[in-house]
Amino acid sequence: MLFKADLHIHSCLSPCASLEMSPSAIAEKAKSAGLDLIAITDHNSALNAPALRDACVRTGGIHALFGMEVTTAEEIHCLALFDHPDKALELGEYIYSLLPEVKNKADKYGDQVYVDADENILGEVEKFLGVAADISYERLGNTVHERGGLFIPAHIDREIFGLIHQVGYLPDFPFDAVEISRHYLKRGYDPNAISGKYSYLSSSDSHYLDGVGSVINYIEAEDFSIEALRAAISKKGIVTEFK
Ligand SMILES: [Zn+2]
Ligand SMILES: [Zn+2]
Repeated sequence: MLFKADLHIHSCLSPCASLEMSPSAIAEKAKSAGLDLIAITDHNSALNAPALRDACVRTGGIHALFGMEVTTAEEIHCLALFDHPDKALELGEYIYSLLPEVKNKADKYGDQVYVDADENILGEVEKFLGVAADISYERLGNTVHERGGLFIPAHIDREIFGLIHQVGYLPDFPFDAVEISRHYLKRGYDPNAISGKYSYLSSSDSHYLDGVGSVINYIEAEDFSIEALRAAISKKGIVTEFK
């Protein structure tokens, strides 16, 4: 089956994202935008994964992956995606233990709240999530794969937090795909020029509700399992559409 996916969305848990980005609001917006599969990928934390699961069940017709956008020691943003909230939460706990003891200043950096599917605030994350965890991208990638997840470096074309710029070249590693920012593709640049041997997809990287559904990847897969997605995503030729 062919379905529409956006696998990089920030919720109210990311300090840089709007408070309107509750998992339930994101699920509703995704449904109205015609998406079938979404992932919330907050910086270095997956604490909104259970709310996303509940919100998608309630909304109906929307499937979810659960994960986060980890900032590695090399300051590379990498997406880790799982098919169950618990796996994302487990990795989240590990990543949190690797973050420096820098407290968030909500008035300066933004709120870091996690919620339930009714938008009740369950708690606030103490450490600042916008910094690098003490883990290399290779160790992170191996950890994600050992736990059965998908590992996709984010916006590899970007000079800030992008894989190519931070490493100096496109490294050889078993990435499941690479992500290219919508800005790069919208400018009409050739994605094959930077994605090398890897399959690529794009994403909205939404921080506001308006962005959800602004980028759609058409993925042909047997079902929404990680194994089916891994096989589908690793094939070149995913079509991306912008709104
Ligand atoms: Zn990023
Ligand atoms: Zn992001």
